[in-house]
Amino acid sequence: MKIIENCKMDEYTSFKVGGASDRLILVDTEEELASVMAEIAASGTPYVVLGNGSNTLFGDGGFRGTVVKLGPGFDKIVVSGDRVTAFGAVLMRRLAREAMRAGLGGFEPLSGIPGSVGGAVFMNAGAYGGEMKQVVRRVYAMKPDGSAAEWFSGDELELGYRHSRFKDTGEIILKVELELEPKDVEEIKGDMDDFTDRRNSKQPLEFPSCGSFFKRPPGHFAGSLIQEAGLAGYTIGGAQVSEKHCGFLINKGGATASDVLALRDHVKKTVKEKFNVDLEPEVRIIDEIM
Ligand SMILES: Cc1cc2nc3c(=O)[nH]c(=O)nc-3n(C[C@H](O)[C@H](O)[C@H](O)COP(=O)(O)OP(=O)(O)OC[C@H]3O[C@@H](n4cnc5c(N)ncnc54)[C@H](O)[C@@H]3O)c2cc1C
Repeated sequence: MKIIENCKMDEYTSFKVGGASDRLILVDTEEELASVMAEIAASGTPYVVLGNGSNTLFGDGGFRGTVVKLGPGFDKIVVSGDRVTAFGAVLMRRLAREAMRAGLGGFEPLSGIPGSVGGAVFMNAGAYGGEMKQVVRRVYAMKPDGSAAEWFSGDELELGYRHSRFKDTGEIILKVELELEPKDVEEIKGDMDDFTDRRNSKQPLEFPSCGSFFKRPPGHFAGSLIQEAGLAGYTIGGAQVSEKHCGFLINKGGATASDVLALRDHVKKTVKEKFNVDLEPEVRIIDEIM
């Protein structure tokens, strides 16, 4: 277990903005997590769970409470037949590589999603026609008060568009069991390379961001609406609507969280005025979800 007091959250999030949290605790075992969560519950102080920070934005004022993060002890993968069990901190790209080495396919469309497998289940992350729901069989998660961990499967997971039960319950995802299909290793590699090329050519990966900032509104694509509203390249401070992919708000350099949130508000307002469509953020904005 590692405790970092006054932890700068721009170093732990892919947008690279935001102030410090009172403390960040990296836990390496289920027992450590249970005792940390029990202590937080007993003190009644605020906390957030953080994966790899690829979809999370902290405000410039930081966070008055504890950020709980699964540490290196939760970076393990076990392959057994067509089942792959990944602990919560495993990064999606490492999981994709291990599945490929084991000759197991089905994960390729998800291979380029940044972040941890825990965060990907929480978000039911998806790309190129794939989503976590298609490959996740069971999830082992702990109650927020640290009292018990148990397996959840199928409908219990409530996986929908960027939704899972964990958004409502606050349970902490410790292990994820995937069911994949035997597939030729070279074919898996070819498909993964193809998805990587598509991502590299369409996304502004050279700038810090949280990926697509907004959810897909029913019947539309957020990026297309933002482009048609004439907002490509629109800039506030160091935050900009990417010209390469208008669904991405990027940190062009030196952005503050306030810049990003002001840009978010401007984009929402403009798209509402022009198309009468409400854009909702996909990004988890800590000040606003607490
Ligand atoms: C360049 C770029 C491209 C992206 N492309 C895609 C894409 O194609 N598809 C897509 O869906 N997303 C995409 N994203 C967004 C992001 O990668 C996903 O949402 C990802 O699943 C977040 O994982 P994370 O570990 O970084 O989560 P974090 O940002 O750390 O957390 C996200 C949420 O999950 C919760 N959480 C994290 N870990 C756990 C856990 N172990 N237990 C319980 N709750 C947890 C957090 O509390 C938080 O609310 C992209 C982001 C970037 C920067």
